[in-house]
Amino acid sequence: MGLYFDTPIQYLKGVGPKLGTLLKKKGIHTFEDLIQNYPRTYEDRRAARNIASLQIGETVSIKAEVTNVSSYSLGRSKRKIYDVTVRDGSGIIHCKFFRVPYRGYFERFEPRQQVRVIGKVTHYRGRVEFHHPDIQDIKPDSEANKDELIPIYSETEGLSTTRWRKIVSSATELLKNDEVGGYEEKLPSWLIDKYNLAPLKETLVAIHSPPKGSGRDFLDYKSPFHQRIIFEEFFWLELLLAAKKQGLKKEQAPALKEKGQKTQELKNSLPFELTKAQALAFDEIKEDLAQASPMHRMVQGDVGSGKTLVALLSSLVAIDNGFQAALMVPTEILAGQHFKGATKLLEPLGIRVGFITGQMKGSDKKLVEEKIASGEYDLVVGTHALIQENVNFKNLGLVIVDEQHRFGVEQRKKLKQKGKSPHFLLMTATPIPRSLAMTVYGDLDVSIINEMPKGRQPIVTRMTYQSKRDKVVGFVQDQIKKGRQAYIVYPLVEESEKMDLSNATDEYERLKKELPDLKIGLIHGKMKSDEKDQVMKKFRDQEFDILVSTTVIEVGVDVPNANLIWIEHAERFGLSQLHQLRGRVGRGSHKSYCVLSLGHAVSQESRERIQLMEHTADGFKISEADLEIRGPGEFLGARQSGLPGFRMANLVRDLPILKKARQAAFEVLQKDPALNQKQHQFLRKEIFENKEMIG
Ligand code: ADP
Ligand code: MG
Repeated sequence: MGLYFDTPIQYLKGVGPKLGTLLKKKGIHTFEDLIQNYPRTYEDRRAARNIASLQIGETVSIKAEVTNVSSYSLGRSKRKIYDVTVRDGSGIIHCKFFRVPYRGYFERFEPRQQVRVIGKVTHYRGRVEFHHPDIQDIKPDSEANKDELIPIYSETEGLSTTRWRKIVSSATELLKNDEVGGYEEKLPSWLIDKYNLAPLKETLVAIHSPPKGSGRDFLDYKSPFHQRIIFEEFFWLELLLAAKKQGLKKEQAPALKEKGQKTQELKNSLPFELTKAQALAFDEIKEDLAQASPMHRMVQGDVGSGKTLVALLSSLVAIDNGFQAALMVPTEILAGQHFKGATKLLEPLGIRVGFITGQMKGSDKKLVEEKIASGEYDLVVGTHALIQENVNFKNLGLVIVDEQHRFGVEQRKKLKQKGKSPHFLLMTATPIPRSLAMTVYGDLDVSIINEMPKGRQPIVTRMTYQSKRDKVVGFVQDQIKKGRQAYIVYPLVEESEKMDLSNATDEYERLKKELPDLKIGLIHGKMKSDEKDQVMKKFRDQEFDILVSTTVIEVGVDVPNANLIWIEHAERFGLSQLHQLRGRVGRGSHKSYCVLSLGHAVSQESRERIQLMEHTADGFKISEADLEIRGPGEFLGARQSGLPGFRMANLVRDLPILKKARQAAFEVLQKDPALNQKQHQFLRKEIFENKEMIG
């Protein structure tokens, strides 16, 4: 024996110091790391394929002969493309590489060499090809000659997939023969039984050396072994989130019971009824507020679904109980808009509404701060200025953050700290797919407003091409003649090299020349925030007919008279972003339009993606599609931290397992809230080690 899960990797037989160093560069320090470096995929050698039969999109393995190795550059770009051409009796296929996998990679190949190529079949300009496949030598008795399911690892410089396999397979052999100590099943046995999980040792061995008869389910991550690993990855995260949620329940917060009078007065003063979805969300919030532990709830609803009203009603519950409420929004102009709206609705009820922004100076600001501190203001609307040091509330009972995705975790936390232990309400118009809601926001409760107020006209959305620009400009002119206003959105501010994207500034100049009778404004991300606010205000007050912009108009500014948004190079935007932008129009009673122009040379895939926008106005559907296409990191954007890294699990593919793992985690804590039972000792340790995450 003598070998443990945490034994440094160089002590594994056949590794040694040199290879050990190499492995460490890949983040593999111990035996455990090696075992947990799961195969990227498997090569299915059971069915021999010939080149002529390959279908686009399938992952295959073929035996072929190298005919040629070359490299060339495309256009003026310095980037080199490498091409290993191979053939079999049925045809030839190009294996393209856009970077060198490791030094000396291409020198390995020579004409007539027998190789095995494993990869996903793709196409370029109508030609079927491989991009970055694995290419292995076939020597007479080499492993590459065997016909079964073979694991594939990511290659690194100096370590081919064949070499990888050798090391890992000697490691799994040890595991199989019980020659490794120090690892144990961390999940309690009742959980393993209940959720039908494959045993740990068997799982780890099988993942690296698929048992005889394994097939498709391994390639699809659907084998019981894959499912077990994925379950566990999700489970640890969900257990943390469940513990965090449980911890929050223990915090003390003022129990705010609805008195009913003020909220009823507000409802009576409205010229409309709440939608069912609004009423339901408000009910859920009221139930939370009435508890003696703080609410942590996120309200998701499409642009225009009426989240603000739900927020104001909630603030009334706090105010009725003698507490203050704060509403934080991401921009000055939006803060102003909310302040105006809140004042109009709440002042008649005797509520005192305050306003604070970063632009306020000296004595004005001081006065506002005093009124916040003395409790003279019941509700305070503001920007980031709300979380500045000298803002102190008398008794803050409810914190509301609008467009929450615009704020960082720290900023939200700071606002929360302005009260002793206030209730917390987040609002977002970017619907978050369920898988993300269960991971990144897994400690929050979610209310969904999935219904639009009555009488909203659907926004007519059409996809077109840049070549039709004149037509679109004509359409813009028509709308303006009818008294409406239009947004035109471009993806970039400055011309980027080589890409012939129209940019906002150039297009602004061009439109001014083309349409001398119209008043055109420009807004972009490089402007200072007060400059931006000035432009937005002018547009709102109809001093401009057209607003040319980059995506800075994304956040919920209300210009009901604008009924047309034209987005150029729509293929450059994420779908959720397009949906957000589209929500800028359709806020008034006029029929509204969204025109999505595609540049030339746009792929079929992009076109189909954009076409979804023509057919659906459902933000949830759009966000699911967006997540699938862009992946979670891109989807959430740089501002959102806390996206967990998984070795095998995939949030889109594995949603059903995620749901099970979440259920299991909550079940565990229900059974044993403090994880005191012996059978839960590992769970307890895991949570304890990650305590700062619970914090
Ligand atoms: P969101 O913040 O969800 O994008 P808002 O709260 O700004 O949406 O609401 C958009 C508009 O709809 C506002 O003018 C608001 O007064 C109006 N509104 C809200 N709820 C209703 C309702 N139930 N019926 C009709 N109009 C509503
Ligand atoms: Mg809003």
